[in-house]
Order: sequence, then structure tokens, then C-alpha cells
Amino acid sequence: MRVAVVTAPEAVELREEPTPQVGPDEVRVEVGATGLCTMERRLYSGEKKFYPVAPGHEVAGRVAEVGAAVAELPGSPRVGDTVTVDLLTRCGTCAACRRGRTALCKSPQGGTLSDGTVSFGAGLSDNVVVKATQVFPTGTAPIEHAAMGEPLACVAHSLRLGGLRAGDRVAVIGAGYMGRVHLALARHRGAASVGLIDVSADRLAEARTAGATWTAAPDEAVELGGKQDLVFVTAGAPGALELAVSLCDDGGTVVLYGAFDKSLSVGVSPDAIHHHELSIVGVYSHEPEDWREAAALIASGVLAADLDALVTARFPLDAVADAFKLAATSPVYRVLVGGA
Ligand SMILES: [Zn+2]
Ligand SMILES: [Zn+2]
Repeated sequence: MRVAVVTAPEAVELREEPTPQVGPDEVRVEVGATGLCTMERRLYSGEKKFYPVAPGHEVAGRVAEVGAAVAELPGSPRVGDTVTVDLLTRCGTCAACRRGRTALCKSPQGGTLSDGTVSFGAGLSDNVVVKATQVFPTGTAPIEHAAMGEPLACVAHSLRLGGLRAGDRVAVIGAGYMGRVHLALARHRGAASVGLIDVSADRLAEARTAGATWTAAPDEAVELGGKQDLVFVTAGAPGALELAVSLCDDGGTVVLYGAFDKSLSVGVSPDAIHHHELSIVGVYSHEPEDWREAAALIASGVLAADLDALVTARFPLDAVADAFKLAATSPVYRVLVGGA
């Protein structure tokens, strides 16, 4: 089978790899579509230098083979099911896993290809093999939607840890792909309003088309959007945390979703947090219950229009290099690779 490997900045090649064997509790999924996320873009641009590497962690496809131990289990995936695939390894035994906080599992992720190349998912390929518990059926939903299972699970995790309740006033800093998925899910969950904040006027116009209640540039957000119950920071720019805190009404919560520069540190007022009962919550990755929700939402079709609007392009695996180039050099929501 073929698998894409990034070998240097702006260099992607398809390598031949033996099709992995299916263990008794595993399934083999024929990949139909894989999304290119920030990690893939950073590897391609050279912003993250780690080569050679087999990326691709936003995977959906069709179950092609099921291990003997899970083949007849009720609720277990069947050959032919369309599924979204959780490629995160969880050891089950580290302190975080034992507390149920498996997004923070400390076990090494990945594994390697047959030639020793490190895998960051290796989902830009013809097949992936995972535990049966790590695939979630998406019914008759389009494969492009199923390939958004991982980011949707991350956002479900973000809303869960942020404590979103129906009727909340919500603001989202960053109107890129992750900001838009927050918009879609928060509206679906009954937020009273969802405003989007970004420096790009184009992105704000697209967010309004997608149903944002209000949009604003960062310096006019407090004036245009007013006070909020929940503020999600999906773009970890300098000043974003301070802006988020200034947007909070009494009892408000800031959720730090996007990655920040590791050297950045900011001052917030402990007295404001105390007197106004503010919360600042970090969220990272996803857990199995978030996948259950993501897959169910995809299968139900309730987010279909939102997800359709976020598919920028889809390339066959043969053209994976073109897909990377587009994703790394122009403003996109999601570029998908596979099938088509
Ligand atoms: Zn991702
Ligand atoms: Zn663990």
C-alpha cells in the first residue's frame, strides 16, 4: 500500500509499505479521506522540522477487515461500515489515563513504518489498522464529513470542559477552521449567540454567512459583542488571553483551545478572577466520549451544511504533494486527501 512521507520542507513522497496485519481486536480501514491539519502544514512549511515523518491524523474510511475477537460483538464495527478513526494511543495505565483524562496520556504516540520512519498517524495512506474501539461509525454521511471526526471530537472536548450550556453568550477568537467548528457546535448546542473575532475581514464575512451572530476585529470586540459567558480562544496570538478575559461577564469562562508560543507569558488580574468568579480552562486533544458525540453528530447530518462549507478541496492520494502545497500556502479551511 501507499503512504505519504514528508522528507524535508516542501518535499512529500509516496512510499510503498506492507499492508498492516489485523490483530484479533483490531480493524483495517481503507482510507477514504484524510484532512490536513496545522501539524501537517507546519511540517510541510518547515516551521516544525521533524523528518522523515508520516503524518495524517484526521482519517475516515470504510472498514475492510475485522479481527476475530471483535467480529461478532454487538456494537462493534462491521465490514463495509463508514467510520471516523481515532488514531491517538492511550496506555490506560499512566496517572492521567487512570484518572480518565486520557487526552493527556503520557505514553509515546505513533510508532514507525517498516523503514523506521516515525508515524504521526500515517493516515495519508491506503489503509490504517487500529483497535476496534477506536473507530466510530458515521452512517451514510459523506466521507468528507467523517474525515472531520477528529477536529469535531476536539471541539466537543472543548465545549465539555468549558461547560457550555444552552442560552450562553459565546465568543470565539479566531475564525479559521477550528473557530468555525466551534461556531457550528455551539449553535447546535443552543448558545444564545456566537460571535467570531478575527483580523481577517474575509474570514469574518464567511463566518457571518455561516451563521455567526456578530463578528468583530479584536480591537472592537468588546464594543460590538458585549460581555460573554464563554470565550473560546482558537488562535493563540499574543493578546488573545487578555482580550478573552476582558470579554467575560461575571462568572465567565475562558477556554484556551489553540496552541500558543511556548515562550509567551501574560499578566491577568487575580483580583478580577476572584471578584468576578472567572475561570480559565485549558483544553487539549480529545477523549473517547468526545468521539462518540462527534460521530453521532456527523451521522445525524445536523452539521452537514456547516461541514460542507469547511471543505476547501479534495485531492487523490497520488496528488498528496499538491494538497500539502495548497494547505500550506493559501488560507484554507480543510484540504482533504484520498479517494475522489
Ligand atoms: Zn487535527
Ligand atoms: Zn496513559
